[in-house]
Amino acid sequence: MPVMEATRTIVHVGNVEIGGAQTVMIAGPCSVESYEQTLDTALAVQAAGAVILRGGAYKPRTSPYDFQGLGLEGLQILARVRKETGLPVVSEVLSTDDIDAVAGHVDMLQVGARNMQNFALLRRLGQLRKPVLLKRSPAATVKEWLLAAEYILAGGNDQVVLCERGIRSYDPELRNTLDLAGLALARQLSPLPVIADPSHGTGRRDLIPAMSRAALAAGADGLIVEVHPEPAKALSDGKQSLDFCGFRSLMETLIIE
Ligand code: PEP
Ligand code: MN
Repeated sequence: MPVMEATRTIVHVGNVEIGGAQTVMIAGPCSVESYEQTLDTALAVQAAGAVILRGGAYKPRTSPYDFQGLGLEGLQILARVRKETGLPVVSEVLSTDDIDAVAGHVDMLQVGARNMQNFALLRRLGQLRKPVLLKRSPAATVKEWLLAAEYILAGGNDQVVLCERGIRSYDPELRNTLDLAGLALARQLSPLPVIADPSHGTGRRDLIPAMSRAALAAGADGLIVEVHPEPAKALSDGKQSLDFCGFRSLMETLIIE
């Protein structure tokens, strides 16, 4: 039976509620690269209507020779920008070793797609009293994704947001395929808020507006979008990052309550 609206979970991230009446826009760079890049992006996305800042300090890269993130320095930059803008921050935690450092600097911890079934990490996050953004693995069924969330809930942490970020498909033109049926199903089966990531869900900035509209029509409680001052120079995921003007245009095309 679908979850009744009255029994849906509200997740509190700083002063922002995810899963309530408002559609929540999360935006920011794939990777924190510098203080200026992070602050400029935060101010631009905030002016356009984003209410939470994203930014990776510990990056799960396919190749060990690619940029791995600024680590602790990245977290310190996020904390400084958070203070200066008032925007709550979400950032990825890659390993149980980093939980204390990440939790000490951000408002919500992201479990990336590659770690969705890292059960040791999920169990530790269940002990935490901070919200968790749980991305779906590109190879996971909806039930596996919801069971991964249960590992966190079972520890007593009910502050979990699910994020559909695309599943692996066969079209080389698309990095991933945003699974909106999976998003709608997850929202029907679980009381947790569900958001969509049209950046990783396509790998292409030109598809972000269409997929954002579609995700909201499918019932998403919010979106998480990658934005960079100069996407061509981004140290990660430039092809799927909007510039400031692109993010402003996106916000103008969305009907957000
Ligand atoms: C990210 O958000 O930058 C990221 C690495 O996402 P995912 O885990 O969905 O690939
Ligand atoms: Mn990214």
